[in-house]
Amino acid sequence: MNNLYKLAEGLNKRYPDGNSPYQIATRLAEECGEVASEVNHFEGSGIKNLKRGEPSKASMAGELKNVLSCVMQLAIYYQVQDELEQTINASLAKLKSGGYID
Ligand SMILES: [Mg+2]
Repeated sequence: MNNLYKLAEGLNKRYPDGNSPYQIATRLAEECGEVASEVNHFEGSGIKNLKRGEPSKASMAGELKNVLSCVMQLAIYYQVQDELEQTINASLAKLKSGGYID
């Protein structure tokens, strides 16, 4: 989480004019589309497979990172870092008490 917040803070400083909530949400939607494209590529269901060659784990990871960066930028914008951590911890506790994780 800390590295993701650092990444988002760095991106906010590097691109100070692109961080309104609507700009971030638009980027998030765009990046989710790019993740979907990677899924298509891995699953061989996209129409551009011949053009794109073999799927790349690095490309998939890069697009997932882009999505996570946008999510963290929204968390920072709305100052919900503590609430995000709490809701994650609550979900982890539920899964733990249900015996799904250690
Ligand atoms: Mg991307």
